[in-house]
Amino acid sequence: MEKLKTVLITGASKGIGKACAIEFAKLGYNIVINYNTSEQPALELKNELEKKYKIKTLTIQCNVGVEQDVISMVNQAINTFNSIDILINNAGICYDEPFEEKTVEHFMNTIQTNLLGTFLVSKYVSKNMLNNHFGKIINISSTSGLSEFSPFSMDYNASKAGIISLTHDLAIQLQPYINVNAIAPGWIDTEMNKDLSTDFLNNEKEKTLVKYIAKPEEVAKLAIFLSSDDARYLNSEVITLDGGR
Ligand code: NDP
Repeated sequence: MEKLKTVLITGASKGIGKACAIEFAKLGYNIVINYNTSEQPALELKNELEKKYKIKTLTIQCNVGVEQDVISMVNQAINTFNSIDILINNAGICYDEPFEEKTVEHFMNTIQTNLLGTFLVSKYVSKNMLNNHFGKIINISSTSGLSEFSPFSMDYNASKAGIISLTHDLAIQLQPYINVNAIAPGWIDTEMNKDLSTDFLNNEKEKTLVKYIAKPEEVAKLAIFLSSDDARYLNSEVITLDGGR
């Protein structure tokens, strides 16, 4: 019988990370639900997944930008499930503010969480993947890391461009048994965009060819495909998921 696979999802307490947890739960995976500040939503998700899908889960508080936190999280996950087969580097933050108001603190927080966090979790999880000769790493970047976006989120955009660069380098470094790919979503309906005006979002919606803003499940379903055996030949790739803007 094939061993049950384990997926570690960073920032799984809400939004895209939560949707990934639900989609992987439907397939019977063990799930490590990482969160930073949202303990209650993470615990509620754990209960929901265990009850509905009869799977094993582990919730771990960890700031992905802090090395010691990441080492503890990865050790705890491996002690519980023996291996981490799939890693979704999803945790992210964004400050939407004018250039003149951008501070070193906001800039560094963004780079630390989004870019350094992706590096740190990949570094410690990939040790286990290398030992097992198996692994899939999926980094959640953004279309804002691929082309011009908004100067209001220039720190975020730079972090997402950095994640694309990391994706290619990790794919080379971790060959041949570990696939590393990135998803670059356009607008997705999550809390991250809760402060944007309806007018703005309607305008963005009209710029897509499909005339809607995607639900987080659509990102999760692509992550499922990228982590499947059918996607073995897909490596070091950045897949845009933006309704054809
Ligand atoms: P949400 O704001 O809904 O969720 C963000 C998640 O990241 C939360 O679970 C949060 O956990 C977690 N997180 C934040 N900081 C840390 C940290 N330091 N350590 C661990 N976890 C952390 O955002 P989305 O679901 O929209 O975004 C998920 C990813 O998708 C992000 O990387 C984002 O940049 C990317 N993305 C989103 C798009 C969108 O339109 N929504 C478009 C393109 C990319 P907690 O609440 O516990 O702090």
